[in-house]
Amino acid sequence: MDQEKNLPGLNRRDFLKVGVLGTTSAILGGNPLARAAEYCAADAPFVFPEPVYRTLGRTGMKITVVSFGAMLTPESEVIKVALDHGVNYVDTARKYMGGKNEEIVSKALKGRRDKIYVATKTPPSAVSKADIIQEVEASLKALETDYIDVIQLHSLTDKERIFIPETREALVQLKAQGKVRFFGITTHKNQAEVLNALADDPDRFFDMALVAVNFKSEPDILKAIERAAKANIGIVAMKTMAGGYSTDVMGKITPFQAALKWALRNPHITAAIPGMKDMSQLKEDIAVMGMPFELADERILQRYHAAVKPYYCHLCGKCEGTCPLGVEISTINRSLMYAQGYGNHELALSTYREIPAAASALACSDCSNCVAQCVNGLNIRAKMTTARQLLV
Ligand code: SF4
Ligand code: SF4
Repeated sequence: MDQEKNLPGLNRRDFLKVGVLGTTSAILGGNPLARAAEYCAADAPFVFPEPVYRTLGRTGMKITVVSFGAMLTPESEVIKVALDHGVNYVDTARKYMGGKNEEIVSKALKGRRDKIYVATKTPPSAVSKADIIQEVEASLKALETDYIDVIQLHSLTDKERIFIPETREALVQLKAQGKVRFFGITTHKNQAEVLNALADDPDRFFDMALVAVNFKSEPDILKAIERAAKANIGIVAMKTMAGGYSTDVMGKITPFQAALKWALRNPHITAAIPGMKDMSQLKEDIAVMGMPFELADERILQRYHAAVKPYYCHLCGKCEGTCPLGVEISTINRSLMYAQGYGNHELALSTYREIPAAASALACSDCSNCVAQCVNGLNIRAKMTTARQLLV
């Protein structure tokens, strides 16, 4: 049976029951899990933890280890509650939430802009000086602020964009005008190449990187994170949940807390920015602040990975050289992850639509024999078929 076809709409709960349920009671006995269960219980009083801070590389900014990823947040109230309880770093981009995400963040910043660090992004299409400046000006307007703490070049897939003179010229100008304070990049693919280039850059131009990293990350990515951190480049973690697939079947325990703890135990990672769309997710994530990663967490992650392994794409891009048509398989899979794991169809679509048609899943329609190979055993043809069905 084609497992991929079963995922969307799925009955992911039923699927995960098979993979995870039955183990819950065995692992729930551990104290860390019992504590986590208390934090997640909808009807239990929630106690916000004391904020824990780390320094974001050479920026010197002390930011909360669990910071706010706003990409999935439809209203500012959730962000406000997080900021009320000490979270002091918010990551956004205008394209999220149908182009409204910076405006949503701006409402939460009212009256406390000077106490909160704001990171936003310029789109991959913005490369020229004029485009970068235009994008930053649009962000300043949407955020209703005079300055952006960290401006990130969004979604680098290789090291080339790090060195584009026009892009750097624009950023330097914006910094001189006081409109941005620090420079960063984000990356999902070829991350080791990108991070190593940042670390080796003789100009030390970029101050931080937002990196997809989780408990299934390849050693080369972890090594590159360490190198970059040692070069004093601040590292912020995203995609820590490895797909974010629904795991309600684990009762009050979610593997997402264990996954977040796993990322934060790495001393080279300053903070993580889990996407939080409602109060329940906020409580789940913020509760992790200050919690150690323990053996019970390791066991939860093993179970979670076993459950999502047939679906989870590591976004490593290693398959792309094996596709004769150059289909952007990892970006397509990331779009699927937004739809199927995060439940955010809009973000899935906007990500998918950035792919040129010739490199999208449409290119697979006329390919009778899929020769693309996944190093992790994913059925690429099935994923591309799902993409064509879902991402329309
Ligand atoms: S079906 Fe496979 S080999 Fe053919 S274009 Fe699509 S990904 Fe490439
Ligand atoms: S499909 Fe496989 S090889 Fe391709 S990016 Fe995903 S995990 Fe890597």
